[in-house]
Amino acid sequence: MTGKTHAAVGICAAAFILVPKVDIKTAMLGLGFCIIGSYATDADLKVSKAGHVISDAVYAGIILSILYLMLTFKMHYNVLALVGRDMPSQGKIVGALLIIGSIILGRITGHRKYMHSLIGFFVMTMGVWLIAGNFVIWFGLGYALHMIIDLLNEKPEALLFPLKNGKLCFSICKSRGLANWLISTVAYVGFLYKITSIYNLEYLQRVFVK
Ligand SMILES: [Zn+2]
Repeated sequence: MTGKTHAAVGICAAAFILVPKVDIKTAMLGLGFCIIGSYATDADLKVSKAGHVISDAVYAGIILSILYLMLTFKMHYNVLALVGRDMPSQGKIVGALLIIGSIILGRITGHRKYMHSLIGFFVMTMGVWLIAGNFVIWFGLGYALHMIIDLLNEKPEALLFPLKNGKLCFSICKSRGLANWLISTVAYVGFLYKITSIYNLEYLQRVFVK
Protein backbone atom coordinates (compact mmCIF):
# COMPACT_ATOMS: atom_id res chain seq x y z
CA MET A 1 0.00 0.00 0.00
CA THR A 2 1.08 3.53 -0.57
CA GLY A 3 1.53 6.02 2.24
CA LYS A 4 -1.58 7.85 1.05
CA THR A 5 -3.66 4.71 1.52
CA HIS A 6 -2.32 4.11 5.01
CA ALA A 7 -3.05 7.72 5.92
CA ALA A 8 -6.59 7.45 4.53
CA VAL A 9 -7.33 4.30 6.54
CA GLY A 10 -5.86 5.88 9.68
CA ILE A 11 -7.88 9.10 9.55
CA CYS A 12 -11.03 7.22 8.59
CA ALA A 13 -10.76 4.99 11.68
CA ALA A 14 -9.87 8.00 13.83
CA ALA A 15 -12.94 9.87 12.54
CA PHE A 16 -15.16 7.03 13.72
CA ILE A 17 -13.42 6.11 16.98
CA LEU A 18 -11.65 9.20 18.34
CA VAL A 19 -12.90 12.41 16.72
CA PRO A 20 -16.42 12.24 18.28
CA LYS A 21 -14.86 12.22 21.77
CA VAL A 22 -12.83 15.45 21.57
CA ASP A 23 -13.14 19.11 20.55
CA ILE A 24 -12.28 20.17 17.00
CA LYS A 25 -8.80 21.50 17.80
CA THR A 26 -7.75 18.31 19.56
CA ALA A 27 -9.26 16.34 16.69
CA MET A 28 -7.22 18.25 14.09
CA LEU A 29 -4.02 17.81 16.04
CA GLY A 30 -4.90 14.18 16.66
CA LEU A 31 -5.49 13.55 12.96
CA GLY A 32 -2.01 14.98 12.35
CA PHE A 33 -0.60 12.43 14.80
CA CYS A 34 -2.62 9.69 13.15
CA ILE A 35 -1.14 10.58 9.74
CA ILE A 36 2.37 10.63 11.21
CA GLY A 37 1.73 7.22 12.80
CA SER A 38 0.44 5.77 9.55
CA TYR A 39 3.59 6.88 7.74
CA ALA A 40 6.07 6.10 10.54
CA THR A 41 5.83 2.32 10.05
CA ASP A 42 7.46 2.71 6.63
CA ALA A 43 10.41 4.71 7.96
CA ASP A 44 12.34 1.49 7.21
CA LEU A 45 12.00 2.06 3.45
CA LYS A 46 15.04 3.12 1.48
CA VAL A 47 13.96 6.38 -0.15
CA SER A 48 16.55 6.19 -2.91
CA LYS A 49 14.99 3.02 -4.31
CA ALA A 50 11.58 4.38 -5.12
CA GLY A 51 10.45 7.77 -6.34
CA HIS A 52 6.89 7.23 -5.16
CA VAL A 53 8.05 7.16 -1.56
CA ILE A 54 9.22 10.74 -2.01
CA SER A 55 5.95 11.86 -3.58
CA ASP A 56 4.09 10.16 -0.71
CA ALA A 57 6.25 11.97 1.84
CA VAL A 58 5.65 15.30 0.10
CA TYR A 59 1.89 14.63 0.22
CA ALA A 60 2.05 13.96 3.99
CA GLY A 61 4.21 17.04 4.49
CA ILE A 62 1.69 19.26 2.71
CA ILE A 63 -1.28 17.95 4.71
CA LEU A 64 0.57 18.24 8.02
CA SER A 65 1.67 21.78 7.15
CA ILE A 66 -1.91 22.79 6.33
CA LEU A 67 -3.13 21.33 9.64
CA TYR A 68 -0.39 23.13 11.52
CA LEU A 69 -1.03 26.49 9.80
CA MET A 70 -4.80 26.20 10.33
CA LEU A 71 -4.38 25.41 14.01
CA THR A 72 -1.85 28.17 14.56
CA PHE A 73 -3.20 31.07 12.53
CA LYS A 74 -6.88 30.37 12.07
CA MET A 75 -7.69 28.80 15.42
CA HIS A 76 -4.92 30.39 17.51
CA TYR A 77 -3.82 27.11 18.98
CA ASN A 78 -0.25 26.87 20.24
CA VAL A 79 0.51 23.42 18.92
CA LEU A 80 3.99 23.02 20.40
CA ALA A 81 2.90 24.21 23.85
CA LEU A 82 -0.01 21.78 23.97
CA VAL A 83 1.61 18.63 22.67
CA GLY A 84 2.80 16.72 25.71
CA ARG A 85 2.53 19.66 28.10
CA ASP A 86 2.18 17.23 31.03
CA MET A 87 5.22 15.21 30.08
CA PRO A 88 8.57 15.92 31.82
CA SER A 89 11.38 17.11 29.56
CA GLN A 90 13.78 14.30 30.56
CA GLY A 91 11.13 11.88 29.38
CA LYS A 92 10.90 13.70 26.05
CA ILE A 93 14.62 13.18 25.51
CA VAL A 94 14.24 9.46 26.21
CA GLY A 95 11.23 9.41 23.87
CA ALA A 96 13.20 11.08 21.07
CA LEU A 97 16.04 8.58 21.57
CA LEU A 98 13.61 5.64 21.38
CA ILE A 99 12.14 6.97 18.12
CA ILE A 100 15.49 7.78 16.50
CA GLY A 101 16.95 4.45 17.68
CA SER A 102 13.93 2.60 16.28
CA ILE A 103 14.21 4.25 12.87
CA ILE A 104 17.92 3.44 12.69
CA LEU A 105 17.28 -0.17 13.75
CA GLY A 106 14.40 -0.37 11.27
CA ARG A 107 16.63 0.74 8.43
CA ILE A 108 19.39 -1.67 9.42
CA THR A 109 17.09 -4.70 9.73
CA GLY A 110 15.28 -3.84 6.49
CA HIS A 111 11.77 -3.21 5.19
CA ARG A 112 8.91 -4.99 7.02
CA LYS A 113 11.18 -6.25 9.77
CA TYR A 114 11.65 -4.38 13.08
CA MET A 115 9.44 -1.38 12.25
CA HIS A 116 6.58 -3.67 11.22
CA SER A 117 6.83 -5.89 14.31
CA LEU A 118 4.98 -5.85 17.62
CA ILE A 119 8.13 -4.85 19.47
CA GLY A 120 8.75 -2.01 17.00
CA PHE A 121 5.18 -0.83 17.50
CA PHE A 122 5.61 -0.95 21.28
CA VAL A 123 8.89 0.98 21.35
CA MET A 124 7.68 3.62 18.85
CA THR A 125 4.43 4.28 20.70
CA MET A 126 6.36 4.41 23.97
CA GLY A 127 8.64 7.06 22.45
CA VAL A 128 5.72 9.13 21.16
CA TRP A 129 3.88 8.80 24.48
CA LEU A 130 6.91 10.19 26.35
CA ILE A 131 6.90 13.20 24.02
CA ALA A 132 3.27 13.83 23.19
CA GLY A 133 1.29 12.28 26.06
CA ASN A 134 -2.27 11.32 25.18
CA PHE A 135 -1.87 12.06 21.48
CA VAL A 136 -0.08 8.72 21.34
CA ILE A 137 -3.52 7.10 20.98
CA TRP A 138 -3.95 8.75 17.57
CA PHE A 139 -0.39 7.90 16.56
CA GLY A 140 -0.77 4.29 17.72
CA LEU A 141 -4.03 3.89 15.80
CA GLY A 142 -2.38 5.01 12.56
CA TYR A 143 0.66 2.81 13.18
CA ALA A 144 -1.33 -0.31 14.11
CA LEU A 145 -3.66 0.01 11.12
CA HIS A 146 -0.65 0.35 8.84
CA MET A 147 0.64 -3.00 10.13
CA ILE A 148 -2.78 -4.61 9.70
CA ILE A 149 -3.33 -3.27 6.17
CA ASP A 150 0.17 -4.37 5.17
CA LEU A 151 -0.82 -7.94 6.03
CA LEU A 152 -3.02 -7.94 2.93
CA ASN A 153 0.09 -7.46 0.86
CA GLU A 154 2.13 -10.17 -0.83
CA LYS A 155 5.35 -9.40 1.03
CA PRO A 156 5.59 -11.00 4.52
CA GLU A 157 5.70 -8.87 7.62
CA ALA A 158 7.98 -9.92 10.51
CA LEU A 159 5.38 -9.42 13.24
CA LEU A 160 7.36 -11.34 15.86
CA PHE A 161 10.76 -9.88 14.96
CA PRO A 162 13.49 -10.78 16.02
CA LEU A 163 12.06 -14.33 16.03
CA LYS A 164 12.38 -16.08 12.70
CA ASN A 165 8.82 -17.41 12.73
CA GLY A 166 5.77 -15.22 12.84
CA LYS A 167 6.24 -13.77 9.36
CA LEU A 168 2.80 -13.21 8.01
CA CYS A 169 0.92 -11.97 4.97
CA PHE A 170 -2.31 -12.88 3.24
CA SER A 171 -1.10 -12.11 -0.29
CA ILE A 172 -4.41 -10.60 -1.28
CA CYS A 173 -3.08 -7.64 -3.19
CA LYS A 174 -0.13 -5.79 -4.67
CA SER A 175 0.94 -2.53 -3.06
CA ARG A 176 -0.18 -0.31 -5.92
CA GLY A 177 -2.94 -2.30 -7.54
CA LEU A 178 -6.70 -2.08 -7.59
CA ALA A 179 -7.13 -3.00 -3.92
CA ASN A 180 -4.88 -0.12 -2.93
CA TRP A 181 -7.04 2.29 -4.90
CA LEU A 182 -10.25 0.75 -3.56
CA ILE A 183 -9.17 0.83 0.09
CA SER A 184 -8.06 4.45 -0.08
CA THR A 185 -11.23 5.56 -1.87
CA VAL A 186 -13.52 3.83 0.64
CA ALA A 187 -11.47 5.23 3.51
CA TYR A 188 -11.59 8.82 2.21
CA VAL A 189 -15.34 8.61 1.59
CA GLY A 190 -15.84 7.13 5.08
CA PHE A 191 -13.74 9.89 6.60
CA LEU A 192 -15.64 12.68 4.85
CA TYR A 193 -18.99 11.08 5.65
CA LYS A 194 -18.18 10.77 9.35
CA ILE A 195 -16.62 14.23 9.69
CA THR A 196 -19.57 15.97 8.02
CA SER A 197 -21.96 14.03 10.23
CA ILE A 198 -20.12 15.06 13.39
CA TYR A 199 -19.72 18.74 12.52
CA ASN A 200 -22.33 20.05 10.14
CA LEU A 201 -21.07 21.77 6.99
CA GLU A 202 -22.12 25.21 8.14
CA TYR A 203 -19.95 24.87 11.22
CA LEU A 204 -16.94 23.66 9.23
CA GLN A 205 -17.38 26.57 6.85
CA ARG A 206 -17.45 29.01 9.74
CA VAL A 207 -14.26 27.55 11.21
CA PHE A 208 -12.23 27.13 8.03
CA VAL A 209 -13.47 29.52 5.37
CA LYS A 210 -14.41 32.62 7.33
ZN1 LIG B 1 4.48 -0.80 5.56
